[in-house]
Amino acid sequence: MHPITKAIRTRVDQTNEMEHSSPLFLTSSFGFDNAEDMRAAFADETNDNIYSRFSNPTVQEFTDRVVALEGAEAGYATASGMSAIFASMMALLKSGDHLVACSSIFGSTVTVLNKYLPNYGIQITYVPANDLSQWEAAIKPNTKMLYLETPTNPALDVIDLATVSALAKKHNLILNVDNCFATPVCQRPIDFGADLVVHSATKWMDGQGRVLGGVVVGKKELIHNIYLFCRSTGPALSPFNAWVLSKSLETLDVRMERHASNALALAKALEGHDKIASLKYPFLASHPQNAIAVKQMKNGGGLVAFELKGGLESGRKFLDALEMLSLTANLGDVKSIASHPASTTHAKLSEAERTAVNITPGLIRISVGLEHIDDILADVLQALDKC
Ligand SMILES: *Cc1c(COP(=O)(O)O)cnc(C)c1O
Repeated sequence: MHPITKAIRTRVDQTNEMEHSSPLFLTSSFGFDNAEDMRAAFADETNDNIYSRFSNPTVQEFTDRVVALEGAEAGYATASGMSAIFASMMALLKSGDHLVACSSIFGSTVTVLNKYLPNYGIQITYVPANDLSQWEAAIKPNTKMLYLETPTNPALDVIDLATVSALAKKHNLILNVDNCFATPVCQRPIDFGADLVVHSATKWMDGQGRVLGGVVVGKKELIHNIYLFCRSTGPALSPFNAWVLSKSLETLDVRMERHASNALALAKALEGHDKIASLKYPFLASHPQNAIAVKQMKNGGGLVAFELKGGLESGRKFLDALEMLSLTANLGDVKSIASHPASTTHAKLSEAERTAVNITPGLIRISVGLEHIDDILADVLQALDKC
């Protein structure tokens, strides 16, 4: 079966009732028939249903569906994207290890790398998204992991997964990819050699802004260590959230096709607009890494980024002038969302710090929703007129 079919048809079901829609196992623990069954379950370090911090059928169904979509061997689902990212590092790195990370990564991931991992003796080096020559130079004898996102947040640079994974193989490193922006129906990092893929399921996977969730998938032995770390430290995904997310995966492929076709139409319509200095969308020929994007992505995804000629002040005016698009910290929703990182999410950084991670004063990022493209475009155009 195709991965998208498995994302619809995979079910982990303990009942004989065969509800057509998967049941929700809203339970914290599982009962046993006798002392021997209970002893055997506890003796086994695989994820038998004992207690929902270890595993739960509804959570397993969501995990299995993501495993199928990503072409992975195994996975573990967590309460949020950040807990998946944190667990993937804490379970596999130890004091004295070194991690090389792309400098354009999600803000809370930067906080984990800068503020918490060093407390445990883990060293970090950042390398630019768009200059792979610096990646190899950053690798040291104690380097254990390469970490990146592609497309990057919020500047939408695209990183060549095959090239970075060849580097990881050469130096025997774990390649860990945050695939949140593309989603597995658009890009499968494991096909290009990644060892681990992490997701914030809160974004496109849920797609309707309802629940938080995360998941890490990849090589069996790596996931087993992450599972053992999680079953003791407790970042488990709630069964209710897993049930919501598992349903969401059934429509992920069709939703992403429309998000991407709306985003491409918006990007084409705005390219060259007289208020816009530059615009980035991975599937536009003008994108600096368009050839890589086309090679590793099925479509350009649902995000469009552009730089307003008027800088910081224009960015604020643009947000205020929008009538339909939402102003919210989330992305990957049926509703289109606009954000201006320089005055909001990244306002606390200095201008030099923002420039270092490609956040320019007039940068606007649009998470293109599923409204009719004419309505999205009309709102963006009238807001551009006013800024
Ligand atoms: C939102 C996000 C995260 C963090 O996920 P949460 O579910 O909010 O914890 C990680 N990476 C990327 C790229 C994100 O957009």
